[in-house]
Amino acid sequence: MSHLFYQSKSPRPFLERGEGIYMYDVNGRRYLDGSSGAMVSNIGHSNPAVLAAMRAQMDKSTFGYRLHFQTEASEALATKTAELSPRGLDRVFFVSGGSEAVESALKMARQYKLAIGQGSRFKVISRMPSYHGSTLGALAVTGYDPLTVPFAPMMHEMPKIPAPRAYLDGLDINDPATGLHYANMLEQKIIEEGPETVLAFILEPVGGASTGALVPPAGYMQRIREICDAYDILLIHDEVMSGGGRTGKFWGADHWGTVPDIISISKGFGGGYVPLGAMIARGDMVEAVLETGGFQHGHTYAGNPLACAAGLALIGEIESNNLIANAACMGDLLKARLKGLMNRYPFIGDVRGKGLLLAFELVSDRVTMEPLAAGLSAYQRLVDIAYDEGLIIYSRRTRGGLNGDHFLVCPPMIIGEDGI
Ligand code: PLP
Repeated sequence: MSHLFYQSKSPRPFLERGEGIYMYDVNGRRYLDGSSGAMVSNIGHSNPAVLAAMRAQMDKSTFGYRLHFQTEASEALATKTAELSPRGLDRVFFVSGGSEAVESALKMARQYKLAIGQGSRFKVISRMPSYHGSTLGALAVTGYDPLTVPFAPMMHEMPKIPAPRAYLDGLDINDPATGLHYANMLEQKIIEEGPETVLAFILEPVGGASTGALVPPAGYMQRIREICDAYDILLIHDEVMSGGGRTGKFWGADHWGTVPDIISISKGFGGGYVPLGAMIARGDMVEAVLETGGFQHGHTYAGNPLACAAGLALIGEIESNNLIANAACMGDLLKARLKGLMNRYPFIGDVRGKGLLLAFELVSDRVTMEPLAAGLSAYQRLVDIAYDEGLIIYSRRTRGGLNGDHFLVCPPMIIGEDGI
């Protein structure tokens, strides 16, 4: 018996090593990492430059508590991250994962509003479905009942609006009226809740596990920004999964040019080499918080030099190998091939996403988008077949047990045409 436990009971092969886009189990079987783990291993496995940077840092120090020492590695990564961020977002707070990045964003938002005398604001509106993390603060803004309901009494319930799943509602994603239709739901919700109580709105610019690479309809992102400005509400982009280049731009939101007030990033930021994430905020917000008693938040391992040295080397690899352009180009090819499968398999209802953040959804009827009748077994069978064929795909059943499933197809950004 294993003394270790995670979410499920099903055993998985023992991992021996990873190299590039492949992973090998202890029996020597090779798997193409078609989902980069959980959309993490963006530059693939065992990258020599990242490992070398980690070794070099290990020879100097692996930990310096951030309230005792500054480190060159964390300063350098913060500077680089600020350079890559939209104008005005130039202050960086490091964490060790996505949930921590979201918690930090929520607390920064609240503390900033307190600092400027808007203490009545505390509600964070988010979307249904959505996923923002598993700690209680991040969970409170997550829109997915199976994960949230057991803990409902322990959290303050946060308001939700529908995610813009135009493909389910039969609306055209390229029609600006569709974008307005969904974005205006935010305004209605703000009015319903009382604008003076609303602190922030959080969204994933390109959806992750909850919506299966959902791409916002035309005009949606811009209208959301306008509404937040009109009601003095902070906009948080949760780029934990979409940030870091996988979508074909460094930030998912760069596809629409909209600028939030706070960003959270993780997953591909540490790339599977180290636990690493960050919250990036507007400089004036951070100054206001620091001037009124400091940011009341932190995690012991935040900003540790080993993680930061790995993160910096990773960005270096992305830049020197043009991996963002590769993600855009290989993403187009992969999406076209997945769409091609729709001609062969009528149960593929939708293929969507940007760059190498792609998904397909299983349905029994493409017109009504009815879920596949044999939902669970068909879903499990597809996962098993892929495993048997040496391919890892990331499966999610977020339309609920009754409502069908989607799969994320997100190989590392180093993939070439052969791998596709
Ligand atoms: N936010 C988004 C958009 C995510 O996709 C995830 C993880 O899947 C998280 C937050 C939570 O990240 P972590 O699992 O690293 O805590």
